[in-house]
Amino acid sequence: MLKVPDHILSIPPYVPGKPVEELERERGIRDSVKLASNENPLGPSPRALDALRRAITGMHRYPDSAGFELTRALAVRLGLDPAQIVLGNGSDDIIGMLATALLQPGDEVVMPQPSFQMYEIVTRAAGAVPVMVPLRELQTDLAAMAARVTARTRLVFVNTPHNPTGSLILKPELDRFLDRLPPEVPVVLDEAYIEFVRDPAGPDSRDYVRAGRPVVGLRTFSKAYGLAGLRVGYGLMHPQTAAVLHRVRQPFNVSLPAQAAACAALEDAEFLEDTLRTVHAGVDYLQAELASLGLECRPTQANFLMFRVPGDARAVYEALLDRGVIVRPLGSYGYPDRLRVSVGRAEENRRFVAALEEVLRASA
Ligand SMILES: *Cc1c(COP(=O)(O)O)cnc(C)c1O
Repeated sequence: MLKVPDHILSIPPYVPGKPVEELERERGIRDSVKLASNENPLGPSPRALDALRRAITGMHRYPDSAGFELTRALAVRLGLDPAQIVLGNGSDDIIGMLATALLQPGDEVVMPQPSFQMYEIVTRAAGAVPVMVPLRELQTDLAAMAARVTARTRLVFVNTPHNPTGSLILKPELDRFLDRLPPEVPVVLDEAYIEFVRDPAGPDSRDYVRAGRPVVGLRTFSKAYGLAGLRVGYGLMHPQTAAVLHRVRQPFNVSLPAQAAACAALEDAEFLEDTLRTVHAGVDYLQAELASLGLECRPTQANFLMFRVPGDARAVYEALLDRGVIVRPLGSYGYPDRLRVSVGRAEENRRFVAALEEVLRASA
């Protein structure tokens, strides 16, 4: 028998969105739509695809460990210094580096509950203790989080827009929160969905990084840039924090094709505009349709919506699967009566609404 430490056994398995291929294999259906993982509904940027095709001929070489071109392009785009940027194999990789570099057994990590599962996974993997602070009226409760920070706290995670609620932390609230924390405790501001934000009252991690505050911004090419399958993310932080993460970073963590595609995606302003237009129109459409079905739906600043269904959301989820529509059940997030749907292309959104209408009518 394998001897596995208790803190590893305490890690809850990550629950990914159901892949289309798996659903179709299981139920013998075709033409399903996946609206479960907040992916870009337009596919990858055509410029990124071109760059990828060109890059694969150099695949016998190791990638640039420093990610020079991509880091420089990001620095120019974001108005930061390259020394303030760390690249990751997805932003998940940066979350992992933070835990590896900063946590020891028994340390505490404060995070909202529910939140992105990776925060808890990396915390437990390091033998540290997740201190989970429930949302208050489906908003991150920063006052309650600040109250849970102790001398043992080594890291704080927050996420804005928040997954799965879509809610935003407001800048003045975050400022007050940071003022209450000791400067040696980094606050990780996970901004995976920041490109989709329409409300100007939200924070921007760059403001804090430029001011030398202990904030680490996390961003990704997985959502607005359409490269989830390629795995590229990045962290924005004080150069000293970056230097610490580089000590534990796998030297070739971002693959050569991924670096090339991300550089090209960053230049593809047209694709980003199309994406934002599609997603914003889709959010407005879905919000109106869910309301007209009489379902409570949260306002969202991201590319997904959380809504409530009558009765058991798991049953609605299953019935939607039968109709070839994959959404995300939120029972494991503590919301057994809610579902999360990612915004798709117009025809995918209509397909989801029609299937949902059918399912609700059948169960009424
Ligand atoms: C999708 C998502 C990410 C992005 O993860 P990658 O590893 O960059 O694909 C990070 N945080 C949250 C909250 C997310 O929903």
